[in-house]
Amino acid sequence: MLVDSHCHIDFPDLIEDEAGVLARMVDNGVTHALCVSVKLETLPGILALAERHANVFASVGVHPDNADCEEPDEERLLALAAHPKVVAIGETGLDYYWHKDAPEWQRVRFRTHIRAARRSAKPLIIHTRDSAADTIRLMREEDAGSAGGVMHCFTETREVAEQALDLGFHISFSGIVSFKNAEALRDVARYVPAERLLVETDAPYLAPVPYRGKTNQPAYVRHVAEAVAAARGETLAAIAERTTQNFFRLFKDAQPS
Ligand SMILES: [Zn+2]
Ligand SMILES: [Zn+2]
Repeated sequence: MLVDSHCHIDFPDLIEDEAGVLARMVDNGVTHALCVSVKLETLPGILALAERHANVFASVGVHPDNADCEEPDEERLLALAAHPKVVAIGETGLDYYWHKDAPEWQRVRFRTHIRAARRSAKPLIIHTRDSAADTIRLMREEDAGSAGGVMHCFTETREVAEQALDLGFHISFSGIVSFKNAEALRDVARYVPAERLLVETDAPYLAPVPYRGKTNQPAYVRHVAEAVAAARGETLAAIAERTTQNFFRLFKDAQPS
């Protein structure tokens, strides 16, 4: 039993083959998936998907890369998060890789999401790229720890992992942990306490070895879990059980079906 804690099944590459994507999850022992929002304009598609499938959950949020889209305020996020299949706020955070000018609107938007997460008592899904120091600083300033959540698709250093863990956050690994040149990230995977580990695909992006470069899908979270298990010297079964337990404890509004 495995859970893909972060994917984008609503994106064109995957939603065109919705039945196949869901069937291959079953074939690979992937029982549930969390389909993560990146902008409010596409949220209705995610909610409809989650309504069609008991084992698909949803989040509400606006990705830090998206500049030209509806800017949510706290009230709007809270209203949308009241949908019964919404189990998290995000993905949110900072991304100075795609926005090298480190715009103030990203930090304003991130603060809004943290406040909405605290008010809704739902955990945060945090994206950070080339912006770890500011991400951690804002998490501290806005008391993100009282909402809790996950650092998704983690690619930062062990020091950043330690700071996020100190705030009570979970660390989620994607297919990057299986890449040949990712030895430093596998060190982080060894370091994270078992009760804070999650696995994800971030599909359709970042397919794990042996599918690197192809379209990713939630079924492949099995290969992510295998890579994490190998790095930690544990069995796939142990990592699967642990990350599934962690998922349902963190995303407490997600009902296993
Ligand atoms: Zn992301
Ligand atoms: Zn994502």
